[in-house]
Amino acid sequence: MHELSIVKDIFQTLEDAYPDTYKDIVKIEIQAGLLSNIQPILIQNAFEAYVEEFKEYQDVELEVTILPIIAYCKSCNKNFEVQLHRFVCECGNPSDKIIQGEELKISKVTFNKKNHE
Ligand SMILES: [Zn+2]
Repeated sequence: MHELSIVKDIFQTLEDAYPDTYKDIVKIEIQAGLLSNIQPILIQNAFEAYVEEFKEYQDVELEVTILPIIAYCKSCNKNFEVQLHRFVCECGNPSDKIIQGEELKISKVTFNKKNHE
């Protein structure tokens, strides 16, 4: 299952990044580009299944933001938003240089502050 492995990767990344404090994480925000084929509802479902299995994460919340596709037009020397998968700039020139839209990244992690005060 594609989404479950993504969720596992997210937690693995956080455990590596915050070995002493990852159990205090209360919220994870991720950004997924439209081209990454991430379905927010499927990610949420996989996330629910994961935290159900690993009780130390049962209070963690996940927020998924989908990012639009941005491509670069070298004729205009500017970026434009790709609508409906048409990689064509408003000037009419096609572009295959994708600036944003393929990534999947953790944009923000919130810790339970009470345990740190
Ligand atoms: Zn252009």
